[in-house]
Amino acid sequence: MTRRRWIADEVSGNHAALSGAHADHLVRVLRARVGQEFDISVGAVVRRGRIRAIADHRVDFELAEEVPALSTTDVTLLLAVFKFDRMEWAIEKCTELGVSQIVPVIAGRTDAHLASASPKRAERWRRIALQAAEQSRRRVPPEIADPVKLREAMNTSAGLRIVLAESEQGTSLRDVFATQPHEGDSGDGARTTSVMLAVGPEGGWTDDELQLFPQAGWISASLGPTILRAETAAIAAMAIVMAACSSPFSSSAKVLS
Ligand code: SAM
Repeated sequence: MTRRRWIADEVSGNHAALSGAHADHLVRVLRARVGQEFDISVGAVVRRGRIRAIADHRVDFELAEEVPALSTTDVTLLLAVFKFDRMEWAIEKCTELGVSQIVPVIAGRTDAHLASASPKRAERWRRIALQAAEQSRRRVPPEIADPVKLREAMNTSAGLRIVLAESEQGTSLRDVFATQPHEGDSGDGARTTSVMLAVGPEGGWTDDELQLFPQAGWISASLGPTILRAETAAIAAMAIVMAACSSPFSSSAKVLS
């Protein structure tokens, strides 16, 4: 039986608590009672939790054994800022699909008004990611970074970095994974790695940016012949990467060499 999962607001030893709107949702909407059991995410682990007290805007849990967790793939999504309602939909869906970190980026063709309004919007994106993480029974929500300029984000870290470009004619995203060397299959076809994906704004990447990416070691990939909206491209790319890198039911993790 899968228990509903909550990400604890407070943890100390074998006790955890939800507070504020979080607790209100559990008590008022889900009508939770003392003695009821849930999965409680406490930092990097998930433990079985039994409600031991309910007070105003607060629910206290007694924590018991650890719940085995599924291994996931480490995917960072550089998401060029675009219309907020559709961007927030992409954040929700990519969280459900298992993204580890979302970095909102200001690209050359990002709308100036959205670019200046985005830093104030980041808290709301984190709330959306937290709710989607709980709904999809993740251990922890993805990290949502503060918006940064594309060039700052483009040159960070190593690992496999893929820019989604509607102008790319040769390599599809699936090809990228089909051609990557890897160590030892776990027999269920599971491969995991750390991947960085970049999805452009509504206006697409500028020619300059499309030259900068390969210079910075990024691989350009296509999602097919049709032009997708930015949110569709982000969700499609996440689904393809998760399918290529990890079996949802595998508990073992192998590293791409
Ligand atoms: N300005 C472009 C146009 O109208 O030709 C469309 C940009 S699209 C709305 C936004 C972003 O989604 C692109 O920058 C790219 O990252 C991604 N994208 C959309 N369709 C794609 C495709 N077929 N292959 C790869 N990436 C795609």
